[in-house]
Amino acid sequence: MGGSGDVGGIKTVMVVIAMQAEALPLVEALDLVEDDLSAVFPGGVPWKKYSGVLDGLNVHIVVPGKDKALGVDSVGTVPSSLLTYAAGVALQPNLIINAGTAGGFQAKGANIGDVYVATEFANHDRRIPIPVFDKYGIGTIVAIPTGNLIKDLDLKEGKVSTGNSLDMTLQDEEHIKANDATVKDMEGAAVAYAANLLAIPMISLKAVTDIVDGTKPTVEEFLENMSTAASALSRTVPLVLKYVSGKNVADLDCS
Ligand code: SAH
Repeated sequence: MGGSGDVGGIKTVMVVIAMQAEALPLVEALDLVEDDLSAVFPGGVPWKKYSGVLDGLNVHIVVPGKDKALGVDSVGTVPSSLLTYAAGVALQPNLIINAGTAGGFQAKGANIGDVYVATEFANHDRRIPIPVFDKYGIGTIVAIPTGNLIKDLDLKEGKVSTGNSLDMTLQDEEHIKANDATVKDMEGAAVAYAANLLAIPMISLKAVTDIVDGTKPTVEEFLENMSTAASALSRTVPLVLKYVSGKNVADLDCS
C-alpha cells in the first residue's frame, strides 16, 4: 500500500467502524464532535462522521450508520467499503484504521477482549473456482508492516478472514483455515480493498467478542462480550492514535 503518511508524518487518521455501539465509547473517550455529512456525501447516505484533534492529530471516525430500511447498523463488506472509499477521497487521511469486533480462534491463541492487528486480509465467502478468479475471490491483501506498533503497545497480531456472515458454514471454515486466519470479521478485507484502491496505508484493530471454535453459540457470546470488546477498543484506539501521530508509516515497523 502507498505511503502518503511518509511525507511529513501522519497528520490525519480516518477510523472506520461498522457498529454504532463500537464507535460511541470511542467518540466519548476522544471527545469528538459529530459533523453534518449531508453536504459532503449527497443522496441521503446514513453515514456518520465524528471529528476532533488529539495531540495535534486530526481524527475522524466514520461509521456506515443505520440501514435506511431496517434501522440496524450497516455491517458487512459493501457499506464499509463504499464508506472507506468516499470518506477517504473527501478526508485524504494519511492512515486508515478499521476498528471493530471480531470472532477469534482459540486454536490460534485468541481470547475474549484481545485486540488484534491484522497482518493480512482475505475473504472466505467469495468462491470462484476458475483459475486466477479463485485467487481474486480470496483477494489477499498483505497489511503494512507494523512490528514496532505491535511490540510497543503489546498488541497481538494475526491474519483476518472476512465474510458477510456472522455464523460460519463448514465451507467458510475450510476457507478460513486455508486463509490461516486468527480472526474472523465482516469488514476487514473490504476496508483494505478500498484503502488499497486509494493507495492509503491501512491498519486494522479487532477486539475479540466471541470464540469461533469454542463451545458457546456465537450470537449469545457476541452480545455478552460486546461491551468488554468495545471498552478494549476505546482503550487501545487512542493509544494507537497517539503512537502514530507525527510518525512516518515506515516507522511503525522495525524492518
Ligand atoms: N447481533 C449483532 C450483529 C452484529 S454483526 C447486533 O446485535 O447488532 C457482527 C459485527 O461484529 C460485524 O461488524 C463483524 O465484523 C463483527 N464480528 C464479531 N464477531 C464476529 C464473528 N464471529 N464473525 C464475523 N464477524 C464478527
